Amino acid sequence: RKLGYAVVGLGSYAVNQLLPRIRECDYAKLTALVSGTPAKLEKYGAEYGIPKTHRYDYAGYDRIRDNPDIDLVYVVLPNSMHAEYSIRASKAGKHVLCEKPMANTAAEAEAMIAAARAANRRLMIGYRSHFEPHNLYVIDQIRKGAIGRPTLITSEHGFYAKPGQWRLDRPMSGGGSLMDIGIYSLNAARYLSGEEPVLVQAMESTDRSDPRFATVEDRIDFQLKFPSGAIANCVSSYSSNHNAFRATGTKGWIGMEPATVYDGHSIFVRIDGKTGPVELPKATKSQWAAQMDELAKAAIEGREPRASGAEGLRDMRLIEAIYASAREGRAIRMTS
Ligand code: NAD
Repeated sequence: RKLGYAVVGLGSYAVNQLLPRIRECDYAKLTALVSGTPAKLEKYGAEYGIPKTHRYDYAGYDRIRDNPDIDLVYVVLPNSMHAEYSIRASKAGKHVLCEKPMANTAAEAEAMIAAARAANRRLMIGYRSHFEPHNLYVIDQIRKGAIGRPTLITSEHGFYAKPGQWRLDRPMSGGGSLMDIGIYSLNAARYLSGEEPVLVQAMESTDRSDPRFATVEDRIDFQLKFPSGAIANCVSSYSSNHNAFRATGTKGWIGMEPATVYDGHSIFVRIDGKTGPVELPKATKSQWAAQMDELAKAAIEGREPRASGAEGLRDMRLIEAIYASAREGRAIRMTS
């Protein structure tokens, strides 16, 4: 049987990207909805054939424990709510897929991992690029040595953040561009290099007279140094559009622009004699369906999912180091 997802939070990402893709899954299906807005429960409940008994508000959330049609919970709420709703799902005996960033702090991320472990349930973070074929192709090429030894990664992510949203309210978001879009620069630098940074250095630039940035940062660019000696130069911005990365090695480079978008990824290489775009065959399954299937498969097979809680925690620790570096004006050495 396919495992059942309850989707928690019916905001823009959930209703535009996730709900329509669950039906592409081979191992999962949508069985429940959780929202504080009755009209959304009515609308999406009707659209996706979710009966009233499987529609929950936040006050009734813990009752998911008693619903055997719910195996998996997908938390798609503002960042500050990730830890609480993931931990409550683990305690209700459900496997959890939680959106990125995993939480507002590394301490919350650790508590999420502990709760899933105590319940003997799986915990996965919504790193959809880990399931996207172009990203997987580039990673595979680098690991196979196509560019030689990686020496430099550039990773740029940013967009113009419109005013008046929870992303610009620190208690809800945990921070500015780094917590939303800059995490793609960070996560890609790690999966392209295949290494964990040992040194972090960051610089922030925020126009505090812009009302969008009363509590969160706009631009925070950072450098990472990896054990091999490779360096990553990373961009994170709420005032300019970026979506690209490039890995340069001793034999050439491979890059993508756009790189971590929903659709329209474009690969370009310059390796030995080969220069130009790389076309991949059209994917049979979307990155969202592949991601949602992974948690279901991991639950069925009793193994850790890819993009697990441990992966999310690594980014949270690095994000805290990036903020500390920018604040203190010094490089931060990562211990562990
Ligand atoms: P959104 O604002 O569109 O949706 C948030 C939802 O949470 C809304 O339905 C809102 O009603 C609900 N909510 C419940 N309590 C709330 C409260 N106290 N304040 C504000 N909203 C509350 O946001 P979104 O873009 O859907 O983002 C949700 C999560 O998904 C975030 O963690 C975000 O980082 C993540 N996200 C991931 C991707 C991706 O590509 N992986 C893309 C977009 C968003």
